[in-house]
Amino acid sequence: MERTGKIFNIQKFSINDGPGIRTTVFFKGCPLQCRWCANPESQNRYAAIADAIEDETYCGRDYTVEQVMIQVRKDKPFYDQSGGGMTLSGGEVLQQMTFAVDLCSAAHGEGIHVAAETTGYAAPQQFRSFLDHVDLLLYDFKHYDRALHYANTGVYNDAILENLRQAVTAKIPVIARIPVIPEFNTGLSTARHMAQMLADWGIREVHLLPFHQFGEKKYQQLGVPYEMEGVKQLHPEALGDYRKVFLDCGLDCTFR
Ligand code: SF4
Repeated sequence: MERTGKIFNIQKFSINDGPGIRTTVFFKGCPLQCRWCANPESQNRYAAIADAIEDETYCGRDYTVEQVMIQVRKDKPFYDQSGGGMTLSGGEVLQQMTFAVDLCSAAHGEGIHVAAETTGYAAPQQFRSFLDHVDLLLYDFKHYDRALHYANTGVYNDAILENLRQAVTAKIPVIARIPVIPEFNTGLSTARHMAQMLADWGIREVHLLPFHQFGEKKYQQLGVPYEMEGVKQLHPEALGDYRKVFLDCGLDCTFR
C-alpha cells in the first residue's frame, strides 16, 4: 500500500513561509505543547480530540505524495516567477519524516524549491539525514533556557539547539523564527542572549512573530483549556527595542 501522510491543510499563495509565492503543506502532529499555540488542532496526530468536528482542518486527512503534488505543481509558474516553492509546516514535519522526505524528493524532481518550518525537535542523527532534502529551514527558536523551554512547551531544548547548530554546520540556509511571548521571552536581556547565540552560530536572518490571539476560538471548538486567555496580543510597534537588540547583533530582523 502506498505511504500516506496526515495533512491538515494545504495553503496556496503563502507569502510568509519562505521566499516568493509558496504552497504550504501543514503536517498534523506535534510533540510540543506550547502554551500559546495558535494551531491546537495541529498537535494531535490522530485527531481524537476533534472527532466531533466534521472539518478536515481539525481532523486532518491522509494524503499520498502524489495527492499533495497535484496541488503543489498547479502553481509552479508562480513559484518560477517569484522565486517561491513548497513549504512543509505543521504541527511538526519531523514527526512524519519518511513521508516528508518522499515529498521533498518529488518536489525536487520537478524543480520545486523546498523549505521546511520546524521546531527541530528530533533525534540529531535523524535530523541530519533530513537536512539532505531541504533547501531552506525556517527554524523555531523559542528560548535558550532549558527549564523555561520545558515549562512552556513541554519539552527540553537540548536536541533543538544541537540540531540548529547541525543545520548551520551543514551550510543549510536557516532563518530563525522567534515567537515573542509575554512572560516567556519578551525581556530585553533574554533577547540579547538569543541574538548573541544566533549571531555566534552564523545565522544571519531572524523573523519575530509577536504573540496574537488568533487561535483562541479553536480552543473553544476543541473543548481544550486555553492558558493564554486574556493575555494581550503584542504589536510590532511596541517591540522596536526588542527588534533593535537583534539588529545591533548584525542580524537581519523583521516582523512576521
Ligand atoms: S511547535 Fe508550533 S504547532 Fe507545535 S505546539 Fe508549539 S506552536 Fe503549536
